[in-house]
Amino acid sequence: MTVFKATTKELLCGECGDVIASVAGRVWPPKLEVTSVEGYPLTPVRAGVLVRQACEEGVPRARVDLLDRNAYELAYELRCRSGHKAVRLVPELARAIRATKGRWVTLAE
Ligand SMILES: [Zn+2]
Repeated sequence: MTVFKATTKELLCGECGDVIASVAGRVWPPKLEVTSVEGYPLTPVRAGVLVRQACEEGVPRARVDLLDRNAYELAYELRCRSGHKAVRLVPELARAIRATKGRWVTLAE
């Protein structure tokens, strides 16, 4: 059996470029672990739960719609030190860490 090494990437805030979280991912068995800037593990929630708040906090309309369409998918609510918020679906994060060669992944809309 081939064992894939877990990769760790730093997620950067799309607005200020500060680190917003770090994510460790493994292809098999599939696993994604997201850690906050403060160093505690974040728990994903159903995207549907985040829709109303995202809407009220001025998250771009396209993203709110995406959360709404994927209401049963798990998502992470990330916040940088300056208080900028980014909500990402688990499959989006998995894709982003696979698609990015370097260590830094900028979360731009
Ligand atoms: Zn920021």
